[in-house]
Amino acid sequence: MKTEVITIDKDNIDMDKLKYAADVIKQGGLVAFPTETVYGLGANALNEAAAHNIYEAKGRPSDNPLIVHISAPDELRRLVKSIPAKVVPLMDRFWPGPLTIIMEKSDIIPKTTTGGLDTVAIRMPSHPVAMALIRESGLPIAAPSANLSGKPSPTMAQHVIHDLYGRVDVIIDAGNVNIGLESTIVDMTVNPPMLLRPGGITLHQLEEVLGDMAIDPALSGPNISDKPPKAPGMKYKHYSPEADVIIIEGSLDRVVENINRLAREYSQKGKKVGIMATEQTKQKYSGFTVISMGDRNIPETIASNLFTDLRKFDEEGVEIVLAEAVDAEDIGLAIMNRMNKAAGYNIIKV
Ligand code: AMP
Ligand code: MG
Repeated sequence: MKTEVITIDKDNIDMDKLKYAADVIKQGGLVAFPTETVYGLGANALNEAAAHNIYEAKGRPSDNPLIVHISAPDELRRLVKSIPAKVVPLMDRFWPGPLTIIMEKSDIIPKTTTGGLDTVAIRMPSHPVAMALIRESGLPIAAPSANLSGKPSPTMAQHVIHDLYGRVDVIIDAGNVNIGLESTIVDMTVNPPMLLRPGGITLHQLEEVLGDMAIDPALSGPNISDKPPKAPGMKYKHYSPEADVIIIEGSLDRVVENINRLAREYSQKGKKVGIMATEQTKQKYSGFTVISMGDRNIPETIASNLFTDLRKFDEEGVEIVLAEAVDAEDIGLAIMNRMNKAAGYNIIKV
């Protein structure tokens, strides 16, 4: 397939280019576009064949549902059976923004879009290019992250080009995204509402609107051990670089000490080692490929760098990544969720 890369300035949108991309959506094509969270791979959410093509292009399992993006709150009504009362204050407070809401789907949403479910995930993004694309197409746009299935989500067009060039019709390049992690997902079909995925909107922020919430038990992970994994990378992975990722969690001194020890051990076995450090610790490692994710006191920077950094290790040919855990508070909960998945839950507590 021929892929066109279109550059659009998000602060001064060229409407001719934007309308061209919107036409591709209307005709059932695939358009990768920026949102404030990560780049998405979009298609008409109401068109079964178009939605199916998203799964094909990504190599995504057909039971992994897509998020449907809208450009105004009143587009919600025809996509869901009914709007639960508690959803209204959520939309008021967090839309447009990085919050995805699960509701019962209406009949116009094909099950291809929802991975076979009777519920649908809906979000109104705040990125000006995403908003304009949805508005101009006049359609709800189904869009998962614009990466090959299993790979880190794309935070710049270069990542999308790397993964999907030749597999999609259009890639819109509008520079780096803002948040760098996917949206928070809350299931409003259950009582109390349940956090399914942590993201840019924190649990505390949600609780301010919803009161007590449940947390999907799957978020605590399948298997947390106190021993080095016997076979790194053998468990379920997502967001993963080619390298095996191991998370080291504990007090910062012990983390640094153990990463240095493990790095030496893996090097002696002939493995190329990478270390995911932070501004506070990057000086404490030498002889390995060290990348600082950012400042521990400004976790938003870590969030925005995380996926890019995971991809950088691939570029360096790193085989084992030893990553420092960060505090799993607020946006840190989302960071650790993605890191733990990238590691296939290979976590060493020290
Ligand atoms: P992605 O945009 O690639 O991060 O993928 C979208 C994610 O949204 C899926 O992997 C699910 O975790 C979640 N999701 C989408 N629709 C639903 C739904 N109806 N019920 C529960 N989770 C959903
Ligand atoms: Mg994804």
